[in-house]
Formats: sequence, C-alpha cells, structure tokens
Amino acid sequence: MRGSAVVAGGGIGGLAAAIGLRKAGWRVRVLERAPGFTAVGAGISLWPNALRALTELGVELGPLRTPQTSGGLLDEHGRWLTRWDAAVFERSLGSPMVGIHRARLLDLLLAALPDDCLEPGTTVGSAAELDADLVVAADGIHSRLRAELHPGHPEPVYSGTTAFRGVTTRTDDVQLGVTMGPGVELGVVPLAGGDVYWYAAVSAPEHTTVDDPKAYLLEKFAGWRSKVPELVARTEHVLHHDIHWLATPLPSYVRGNVALLGDAAHAMPPFLGQGGCQSIEDAVVLAAAAARYDDVDSVLAHYDRERRPRSQRIARNSARMGKFGQQLENPLAVRARNSLIRLLPAGLSVRGSIRMSDWTPPRIGAQSPTSPAS
Ligand SMILES: Cc1cc2nc3c(=O)[nH]c(=O)nc-3n(C[C@H](O)[C@H](O)[C@H](O)COP(=O)(O)OP(=O)(O)OC[C@H]3O[C@@H](n4cnc5c(N)ncnc54)[C@H](O)[C@@H]3O)c2cc1C
Repeated sequence: MRGSAVVAGGGIGGLAAAIGLRKAGWRVRVLERAPGFTAVGAGISLWPNALRALTELGVELGPLRTPQTSGGLLDEHGRWLTRWDAAVFERSLGSPMVGIHRARLLDLLLAALPDDCLEPGTTVGSAAELDADLVVAADGIHSRLRAELHPGHPEPVYSGTTAFRGVTTRTDDVQLGVTMGPGVELGVVPLAGGDVYWYAAVSAPEHTTVDDPKAYLLEKFAGWRSKVPELVARTEHVLHHDIHWLATPLPSYVRGNVALLGDAAHAMPPFLGQGGCQSIEDAVVLAAAAARYDDVDSVLAHYDRERRPRSQRIARNSARMGKFGQQLENPLAVRARNSLIRLLPAGLSVRGSIRMSDWTPPRIGAQSPTSPAS
C-alpha cells in the first residue's frame, strides 16, 4: 500500500478517482453525503477520451456501449445542416461517442469498488477533518471544499440556459440528432437496452419556474420537426435544472494535501458534453501520478500541471460553443450561422470534436518511485 486517500463525493469523478487510486495501490474511502450512491440525471455522452480513461481504470461498458452510428445537426424545420459519420471517429480514435444512462454508469463504477470503502450518508464539512495522506475533493459544482481552499473565489454563475432532460423507451430506430433553433437546442441520444435520452436546452432567465415541464415543452415545441416533443410526451419523469458553471477558472487545483477534481475543479456548461468525461480524465491522471511518485506534493504538482490547462480550455470552449450554438437568438445571426455550417465540409464540422477527444490516458502502474515531480 502506498498511502491512504479520502474522496469527498461519490459522483462520477469521485468514484472514478477511488477506482484509480486503488489500482495505484492506495487505501481509499469514499464519503458521500447522500444516503446512497445514485445518479441524478438522465443520459450522458461519453467521448472517446473518457472511454479510453475508463479502460485504463478497468471499467468496460460491455453491452451498455451504444455507439452512435450516425446522426447530425438540423434546423428547427428538420433540414440537415450537417451530418456526422461515426466511421470518421472510429478511424481517428477507435470509437465514436457513446450514450449511456447515468445510473448505469454509476453502477459500473460502483461494481469496481468493494462495499467497505463506500460510506454513504457522510457529509464532509472541511478538508481539515479528514485523516488521510491525500484528500480528493470531488464534491461537485457547489463544492464546499473548493470554497474552503479558495476563499473568496467567485462562485459558479448562471450560464443563461435552463435544461430539461428525460429518458424513455425507443419505439423506432431513432438517430443521434441535435436540432438548433433560436435560443434552443433539442438533442436525441440513443441508449443501450432500447432506451433513448433527450434534452431541451433553452435560453431563459435564471430561476424560471415551470410548473409542468412536460406541458411547457409540448407547447413550446409543437410543430418542430424534431423527435423530442414525441419523446417528451412518452417520458414519465422530466428533469429541469438551471445550468451553472465556474466561469472564473481556479488558479490551482491543489492546496495542501487536497486535489480538487471534476465539477469541483472545473464545472463547465454541457455544450460539448465533456464535464463528466473530464472528471474521468482527472481521476486517471491523479491515480497515475499517485502510482508514480512517492510523495504527495509531487503527485499533486503533477496533477495540477497536467489537468488544469486542458480542462479549463475545454470549459472555455464549451461556453463559447453555447454562445455560437444554443444561445444564439437573433434570427439573422441564426440564419448566418446555419448557412455557415451548411457550407462547411462534413469532415470539418467534426474536426473540433475529434481534436478534443484525442487524448490518451497515462498508465496507472506501480512504477519505480520517482521524486520530485518531473
Ligand atoms: C444538463 C447537463 C448535461 C450534461 N451532459 C453531459 C454529457 O453528455 N457528457 C459529460 O461528460 N458531462 C455532461 N454533463 C456534466 C456532468 O454531469 C458533470 O460534469 C459530472 O456529473 C461531474 O461529476 P462530479 O463527480 O465531479 O460531480 P457530481 O456528479 O456533482 O458528484 C458530486 C457528489 O458529491 C456529493 N457531495 C457534495 N457535497 C458533499 C459533501 N460536502 N460531502 C460528501 N459528499 C458531497 C454529491 O452528493 C454528489 O454525489 C452534463 C451536465 C448537465 C447539467
């Protein structure tokens, strides 16, 4: 055993970190404030960078791996703006993007951990109260530990977008598709087991209250040439959340013996579908450093140096993508954007996604101790 770690928060990032640290030979406890380890949310897209990171953790999606075979971007009249060819991703990265139910992803992560390291119903109040060589603060966007380690750092801000999400059963062969309208994005992502995940991202003032989300969406999108209204009508439970993000990047992801990880470190708007993927990347990089270096300072210095630039760049790009995409409201600007997308060669429209996903995880192996961080 190389040392002891306590992970505060048992979401995607915290559980992935626990798996990685155990693989690196550390003793790990995961403290989760909720009474159980459960996922709030519907589906999630995992890009090839996250799939590679999961493989390094020893977590395989198996039959839950639902590759998106094809799809594209449409306008609100149902006209194609561009089409995506999954084969391009396969050729470049070995895999296309995959849609999975969040609860299933959490189940897979939990299955890779022994029960005795999981402590639900335990709220962490302060990093100082935790007795461990290494503390991983994976307590989400409204992280208490981030506020403790970076007092006075600006809180997450409202992105301008409110999001509705749901999962229902597929009745036919639905394709991956994103429909763009003024101030609106409607998305459909097929999942394993005959399910489909849909979302509606809408520009709206913060705290917009919607008494009956289903009725609201069905009225708002009546007549749209998108699968989403039909899927909404068949969905039992519709989730509705305002989207916040950490617009002011942190000056460091580490302090003392604590590493901030996942949304606690870099909560981003979901326009690139990378927030969860980045938290899995964080976990693998931290674990690989924990396997490699003999002292916690070197582990943390390496982690911060490797993770901060990439995750903060992706967060910035995600916010920019929202401004050019879903949040664009002026009809003239929307028309100009759509014309531009139509003119782009299909390969060019996915080049950014391929570049973003082209990330190779470090190996988590017990190597000969190296110190200091290099
Ligand atoms: C609408 C929407 C769509 C998204 N779509 C995608 C997508 O398609 N692909 C993608 O990769 N990402 C997506 N994301 C982002 C993704 O959901 C997050 O980045 C990811 O869940 C972050 O994981 P985390 O473990 O860091 O935080 P969380 O999942 O928030 O987990 C934090 C955990 O810590 C616990 N906790 C909090 N405080 C304490 C405490 N004091 N003590 C103990 N435990 C505590 C919480 O209960 C929670 O379980 C989306 C986000 C939204 C909002």
